[in-house]
Amino acid sequence: MTVAVAHSLPFVRLDRHDDDLFAELMAAVERVAASSAFTLGDEVEAFEHEFARFCGAGHARGVASGTDAIVLSLRALGIGWGDEVMVPSNSFIATAEAVSLVGATPRLVDVDRASGLLTADIVAAGLTPSTACVIPVHLYGATVDMAPIMRVARKAGIAVVEDACQAHGAETPEGRVGTLGDLGCFSFYPTKNLGGWGDGGAVITGHPELAERISLLRSHGEFPSRRHSHLVVGATARLDGIQAAVLRVKLRRLEEWNDTRRELAARLGSALAGAALELPLVPCDGDHVFHLFVVRSLERDGLRAQLAEAGVATAVHYPTPIHLTEAYADPAQPKGSLPAAEELAGRICSLPLFPAMAEGELERLAEAVLAARPAP
Ligand SMILES: *Cc1c(COP(=O)(O)O)cnc(C)c1O
Repeated sequence: MTVAVAHSLPFVRLDRHDDDLFAELMAAVERVAASSAFTLGDEVEAFEHEFARFCGAGHARGVASGTDAIVLSLRALGIGWGDEVMVPSNSFIATAEAVSLVGATPRLVDVDRASGLLTADIVAAGLTPSTACVIPVHLYGATVDMAPIMRVARKAGIAVVEDACQAHGAETPEGRVGTLGDLGCFSFYPTKNLGGWGDGGAVITGHPELAERISLLRSHGEFPSRRHSHLVVGATARLDGIQAAVLRVKLRRLEEWNDTRRELAARLGSALAGAALELPLVPCDGDHVFHLFVVRSLERDGLRAQLAEAGVATAVHYPTPIHLTEAYADPAQPKGSLPAAEELAGRICSLPLFPAMAEGELERLAEAVLAARPAP
């Protein structure tokens, strides 16, 4: 007989608000309901100013999701049919989907095995005459070393769009993520380091003309002040007023939550020092805001099974590199073609780590991982 064991240590909890935060969030939602500014409007504009200031960016535009942030960034750059856009194969599939959605072709490339991230050498080696853009992904909250990638991109004359959907607020000596390329893209999906009460996203940029194009593209090619003047073919990809109001409240706590994530990660890292695992690395000269705490194990599936038995929930981000998904299967890029991304996909395991972890949960997690035994 098998006994179903409830996961008593959850992977993430979005319902653990302190009372003050919950009251502030409900008041923000009420404010929007009372004003009926449900799409764009004052809350969205205020959030855009506050988020741009937080990131150290010239301009921010609220959009409907992280995927839309990338789609609209590519469209603002004029990228489309006939263009190739370089994307690391070990990202969330949305990075590639955004490229496909604008009619361009994602060119899926491998990553550095140690960091799991894109490097300037990989970008230089992946360039083709059709490459129009590269999308470095600050995966799990770890910063990509952007300066050398920017040098390669500038020399090649291609654009750089940062996928910062997992790294809100991560800081490098050159500035926060999202300000290091031409445009930076964020998702406010509820589980992200800055998450709304639904879907949302933002684009930040230092180029006013690109910000202006995003404003047009997100709302049917018209400015809110000039209804029925459709200047370009746009979309319905606006940020909601309720999401903006919620995000304004949470943005004020983001720095503190990121600090808590870094502290929890440091504690978990020391507790697991003796385990037969590779622990996540903080990039030197970079940052890690631990959207996910991802370890590597040669016995990943056994480890996950034993943790599940001990009541600890885990996840894998992501079990299939994009080039091996059904959606992107391509005979020109079979299994074995991107070895680092493929090897990582078989070894990575995301452990629970979130700012609202209760007292003792981190210790329980570490004990369970240390107690896990390799398969006989
Ligand atoms: C979440 C995420 C996205 C997409 O964001 P959505 O808001 O879900 O559209 C894109 N890239 C990465 C790396 C992500 O983690």
